[in-house]
Amino acid sequence: MDAASAVGVGAEGVGLFRSEYTFLTHPTVPTEEDQLVTYRGVIEASPNNCVTIRTLDLGGDKQVPYLGSQREANPFMGWRSIRMTSEYPEFFQTQLRAILRAGRHGRVSVLFPMVSTVEEVQRLKRLIDNTRMGLRRAKVPFGEQVPFGVMIEVPAAALCIDHLLDEVDFVSIGSNDLIQYIMAADRDNPKVAHLCEPFHPSIYRVLRQVITACADRQKSVTLCGEMAARPACLLALLGMGMRRFSMSPAFIPTAKEFVRSVNLQAAQQAAEQVVRMRHVGEVRDFLTRRVGQLCPKVATLDTM
Ligand code: PEP
Ligand code: MG
Repeated sequence: MDAASAVGVGAEGVGLFRSEYTFLTHPTVPTEEDQLVTYRGVIEASPNNCVTIRTLDLGGDKQVPYLGSQREANPFMGWRSIRMTSEYPEFFQTQLRAILRAGRHGRVSVLFPMVSTVEEVQRLKRLIDNTRMGLRRAKVPFGEQVPFGVMIEVPAAALCIDHLLDEVDFVSIGSNDLIQYIMAADRDNPKVAHLCEPFHPSIYRVLRQVITACADRQKSVTLCGEMAARPACLLALLGMGMRRFSMSPAFIPTAKEFVRSVNLQAAQQAAEQVVRMRHVGEVRDFLTRRVGQLCPKVATLDTM
């Protein structure tokens, strides 16, 4: 299991626990107790008992039979994630109760996917507050200090990051989705896979805006998604001030080796150059070349 293998490679925690897999692999709707057992198991297996639990991210390509899915022309732009779960407040609160209760067993954060507007975030905050109040009233013990965060994976959220930061404790960038939405290219469609490559200058311009806003407000920001595992991307991200990355345990040793060997000034210069470039190929070739110069050992592993 990823949480246990993360301990062996020196991870500091589990940066993204995708809770929908608990639902997709369960034959019926998992109860609050079922979920609590799962979350607690992950927390106890994780480095430093530290886990960011993301609420259900269903819809798009992932469906369960009990949430009334519909055929949609554009499922990734449709009824997914919080857009779906918010329409089932009781069901959603069951998950939040389980997460908050699991919060007693480690350093747990709750993370909401696919946020687009401040109104959504305010509604989610009210839902969390009501869930906390309900637990208190029922005298059910829970983690009082569970931080509240949102994923930045819709361009609207990234571009108004300053407004969202006023509402949350932390953010996590979902680079897989953010890239597909910036590029308007389905991440699962091989015909447009070339557009989902993380080298368009616009991606770095948007990321720079998010990272800078978080630094200015001293709010924690983590980068999730496949981009985090590519040294060429890591170089530009480090240069923009990104310091927290969530990736599959298999990539952690390489990423650590790279981060240790990279000169921060060279990374900053690379980031500045990338946002001024015009062509995808120019960005990719430049970053790949710089990784080769700065850390030849790691460059041979960046084959994606
Ligand atoms: C992402 O979008 O980058 C992300 C981490 O979430 P998922 O891949 O599960 O959509
Ligand atoms: Mg996502």
